[in-house]
Amino acid sequence: MTFDELEKEILGLNIPKFRAKQIYSWLHQKGVMSFDEMTNLSKELRNKLNEKYFIPSVDIEEKYVSSIDSTIKYLFRLYDGEYVEAVIMKYKYGYTICISSQVGCKMGCKFCASTLAGFKRNLLAGEMEGQIHKAQQDLNIRISHIVLMGIGEPLDNYDNVVRFLRTVNNENGLHISLRDITLSTCGIVPKIYDLMNEGLPITLTLSLHAPNDEIRSKTMPVNDKWNIDEVLTACKAYAQKTGRRVSFEYTLISGVNDSKECAVELASKLKGFLCHVNLIPVNDVKERQNVQSSSKSIKTFYNTLCSLGINATIRRTLGSDINASCGQLRRRKNEVDKNENCC
Ligand code: SAH
Repeated sequence: MTFDELEKEILGLNIPKFRAKQIYSWLHQKGVMSFDEMTNLSKELRNKLNEKYFIPSVDIEEKYVSSIDSTIKYLFRLYDGEYVEAVIMKYKYGYTICISSQVGCKMGCKFCASTLAGFKRNLLAGEMEGQIHKAQQDLNIRISHIVLMGIGEPLDNYDNVVRFLRTVNNENGLHISLRDITLSTCGIVPKIYDLMNEGLPITLTLSLHAPNDEIRSKTMPVNDKWNIDEVLTACKAYAQKTGRRVSFEYTLISGVNDSKECAVELASKLKGFLCHVNLIPVNDVKERQNVQSSSKSIKTFYNTLCSLGINATIRRTLGSDINASCGQLRRRKNEVDKNENCC
């Protein structure tokens, strides 16, 4: 529940209003996952809450620390036995968490592992937030930045994601600035317009990965529903209305989208649009035949964009030794569980 909803709920139960702030703070600031831990509430009230409500648990099932760059990856178990993943990265400005928004994904991008194990269900807002609390408690740190770039398509779980954004931003909760939150989408056009009208100054990132429809449709089925021109028009409207620069993710796959011609075409598509392109060497996924572009092709691609006036960055690949790409751990865990069941 958002803070306002919780306050209404509490008043509806004839409980004094100040309790709402206490309960919200236990749930959203301290991140407790049971009512019994709310020690400043009477035993009677705790029992009442226990009878009437449930807190969706998020527990650490596995944890991996990269020996290359200290990126940390968690496999979390949810209340119904499903798994999702989150990654913690340390930057100069603090800790960033990359969280999942769904159990699995329906979008079917050809290079991505999240979609391989199928789509199970949407995450609740509390389960998205729970990933942050668990990581903070485990590492004894404060996370200042969030990216919605883990398993799932956030705009395919729109209502819960917006609820999550409002709850993490609330001053009685984690109080994370909306400006420090990035939402990545494969391009669900109507939802980009909806998000634009929410008044939430988050950063929008579009997974573009191709300069034209022919190439994009080969790797991203969503492009057959909303093509590049439609999605770029939506991004431009988003940038104009929110005053926030949109960024584009461009995963470089050898022989697919990494030629110099692709870079030239991309630059012409983005010309005049205040944006930023993040170039990412594709991460190896066992079941996918992705070949990483050579460092020479990546450099040429980058130089071409820059020379044509497009802001770009070559992203470092973090956590390559710990299956840190979307969906890789959940996929492996599901495979192991299946084999164990067979035996
Ligand atoms: N569904 C959302 C967010 C999750 S994916 C989206 O599509 O944007 C987060 C980013 O990782 C996306 O840009 C996605 O295309 C990219 N990605 C997925 N698998 C990858 C891989 N194997 N290597 C590099 N990037 C990958």
